Amino acid sequence: MILKKFSARDFRNINKCEIEFSPGVNLLHGNNAEGKTNVIEGIYLFSRGKSFRAREDSELVGFGKEGFSLSIEYSDSFGDGRLEYSLFGRERQRKKNGYKIGRVAEMIGSFRSVLFQPDNLSLVKGGPEERRSFLDVAISQCEPSYIKYYSDYKKALTERSCILKFLQKGMPVDRLELDSWSSIMADYASYVYLMRIEYLKKISLEAEKIMKEISSDRESLSFEYHSDIQTESNNREKIREEYKKILSSSLDREISAGVTLFGPHREDIKIYINGKEAKSFASQGQQRSVVLSMKLAEGAVIKEKFGEEPVYLFDDVLSELDEKRKKYLLSGSFGKQYIITSCDADECMGYADCIIDVRGGEYVSSYRK
Ligand code: ATP
Ligand code: MG
Repeated sequence: MILKKFSARDFRNINKCEIEFSPGVNLLHGNNAEGKTNVIEGIYLFSRGKSFRAREDSELVGFGKEGFSLSIEYSDSFGDGRLEYSLFGRERQRKKNGYKIGRVAEMIGSFRSVLFQPDNLSLVKGGPEERRSFLDVAISQCEPSYIKYYSDYKKALTERSCILKFLQKGMPVDRLELDSWSSIMADYASYVYLMRIEYLKKISLEAEKIMKEISSDRESLSFEYHSDIQTESNNREKIREEYKKILSSSLDREISAGVTLFGPHREDIKIYINGKEAKSFASQGQQRSVVLSMKLAEGAVIKEKFGEEPVYLFDDVLSELDEKRKKYLLSGSFGKQYIITSCDADECMGYADCIIDVRGGEYVSSYRK
C-alpha cells in the first residue's frame, strides 16, 4: 500500500496543502510546532477512523475557520483509491472513491497504516486501556467486522450498567431485562474475546522474532491475554457461557459498584520480557524495543493477511532510539513506505528518498535524484 498524496484544508495549522510522497522513505522535517505531526494525524485518521490525539473532531478545525477537509490518494494491489473526510459545523462527510460512506466502519480497512509515536511507550507501563486500544485499532484494520461486534458490545454494556446503577440506588427494575442484556453482552463478548486471542497469537509470533533480532537474541518477548473467564477453549459457545457465568455469579458485587466489572472492556494483555512482567521491570530502552517490536509486528500481520505492506508512520520516534535500533528500522524499509517526522534533517541517515521541509503549516518537498 502506497500513500501517494495527502491534501488538507483548514486542518489544524494547515491552511491548504498538497503533499506528494515517495513510495520509499519520506522525512517531514522542521522545528517544533511547525506542523509535522498534524500531517501524520491527518493521514492516520483514515486508518483509525478518528484522530489519535484529539478528543473531538472540532479540535481539528483550524483556529477561526468554519470546518476542515482532508483527502488521501493511495494505491494498493486493487489499483488507486481516494478517501475524503470533512467536518463543517456538525456535518461530517466521508467519501470513498467519490461515493459517500455513512459509517466510519466502512472507511476503516481501506487505507492501512501503522503509527508509532512517543506516547506509545505507555503501551508497556500504562493502564490496560492503552493495550486494549492497541488491540482494538490493530484488529479493526485487519477485520473490519470487529468494529461492529465491539460497538454492539459496548452498547449492551451501557444498557446493562445503567440497570446496575438503578439497582444500586434501590430503584425498581425488571430483572428479566438485566438478564437479557447480560446474555447479549456475553454473546458479543465471545466474538471480541476470540478475535483478540486470535490476533494476539499472530502478533506474538512476529513481535517475538523482531525483539530477538533487535536485542541480539538476549531478550525474549511474550504476551498473554488476561481475562477473568476461565477457559482454554476456542469454542465460541463455551466462551459465551463462561461470560454468562461470570456476569451472573458476580451480580451482587456489580450492583454495589453500579458498573459491569467483567468483560472485554476490562481485559488486558500481559507483556513479558524473559519471563518477567514488562510493566514492572522493563527499562526505558526495553520499553522502546517492545513497542517497536509490536508496531513492526502489527505491520507484518497486515502484510501476511493482505499480501501487501501497510504505510508506516513514525512520528518523532527515531531520535528516541539508539543507533542500533534506528539502523534496524531504517534498513528494514526496503519494499515499505515510511513517513517519518523529525526536527533533525539528518535523522534518516541517508535513507530518505523525499525530504519535506515543514514551516508554519507549509510543505516543500525535495526528492533524492
Ligand atoms: P513537534 O516537533 O513539537 O512535535 P510538530 O511540527 O509536530 O511539532 P504539530 O503538532 O504538527 O507540530 O503542531 C503544529 C502547530 O499546530 C502547533 O503550533 C499547534 O499549536 C498548532 N495547532 C494545533 N491545533 C490547531 C488548530 N486547531 N488550529 C490551528 N493551529 C493548531
Ligand atoms: Mg510533533
